[in-house]
Amino acid sequence: MESRKQDNYFHQLGKLRRKPLAIAGPCSAESREQVLDTARQLKELQVDIFRAGVWKPRSKPGTFEGVGLEGMAWLQEVRHEFGLPVATEVAKPQHIEFALKHHIDVLWIGARTSVNPFAVQELAEVLRGTNVPIMVKNPVNPDLALWAGAIERLWAVGLTDVAAIHRGFSSYEPSQYRNLPLWQLPVQLKAQYPNLPIIVDPSHIGGKPELIYPLSQKALDLDFDGVMIETHPNPKAALSDADQQITPAVLGEILTKLQVRSMPDQAFVSRAEELRKKIDRADREIIEALARRMRVVEEIGKDKKENNVAVLQLERWNEIFQTRPQWAAQMNLTPEFIQELYQLIHVESIRIQTEVVKKDA
Ligand code: PEP
Ligand code: MN
Repeated sequence: MESRKQDNYFHQLGKLRRKPLAIAGPCSAESREQVLDTARQLKELQVDIFRAGVWKPRSKPGTFEGVGLEGMAWLQEVRHEFGLPVATEVAKPQHIEFALKHHIDVLWIGARTSVNPFAVQELAEVLRGTNVPIMVKNPVNPDLALWAGAIERLWAVGLTDVAAIHRGFSSYEPSQYRNLPLWQLPVQLKAQYPNLPIIVDPSHIGGKPELIYPLSQKALDLDFDGVMIETHPNPKAALSDADQQITPAVLGEILTKLQVRSMPDQAFVSRAEELRKKIDRADREIIEALARRMRVVEEIGKDKKENNVAVLQLERWNEIFQTRPQWAAQMNLTPEFIQELYQLIHVESIRIQTEVVKKDA
């Protein structure tokens, strides 16, 4: 189902820049002055696409829900005055109609919309026959199929200029992030669709200015294609997402600091091949050792059964969880890592012994 087009709109913009694609602008368009002032500064930074939300999905009613249609004219002014492509979020078919009528260059589907296949399908139907570039944020919950499904719905109506935006996943667990990055999900999406550009949105993942640079660099290290960063001339006064927006000046520093990792050369490839062989050998040894361990576990299980001894022996459990992290530390491994690994190993050992007990009970 993947669009075969290798060079879609987003790849081409990135190539022109010969740097990661940079999308920036305020969370929300608030006034004509704020929009034009931000765009003027971002143009100087050679940002590729100017973003601004005009219809804002807010958790609570009664908060600022965007300026709506009025903002379209401001975005058009940005296009004309600075020659900057402009992007906005669309959540309803009517938003798309307005956006197309006002020549908005790029659309994006937000996290609260990509979560709903009915809504995405409805948007896809309106887009049939256009070829407007469109970005799909991951759904709020960590569901890869739902994210991929939203993208496939757009491909299915003939859109080829599609990109994914990684904006993190909501969680109830306390964490330093506003939305957990769970990098394995975008990486899996990339593995599934190698031609699909992926852009990181460190503003919504981190929720705070100091996380924007490390999250962006991490994404580039994972070979993402670009960044989308919320930028406001006076972040503290922003009407939405005031805690995470940065000034154009700070954005400039971040964009200069970001390093694109280069394509590996032949010497690197052969060194990596040698090292990977060593890793393969080590992994085999680990798995052989685990198989050996589990055979002994089974033997003890039988013995426990014959002697009517309970499978779980607490002192033994405690001893394992004390000694293994200590051994790990002596071998320069992180004790927490080995602790976690042994949780899994111990659970499997208990499962094996429970099976033995059940077998001819
Ligand atoms: C936004 O980009 O301002 C936005 C509302 O993002 P998300 O859909 O990721 O919450
Ligand atoms: Mn926002």
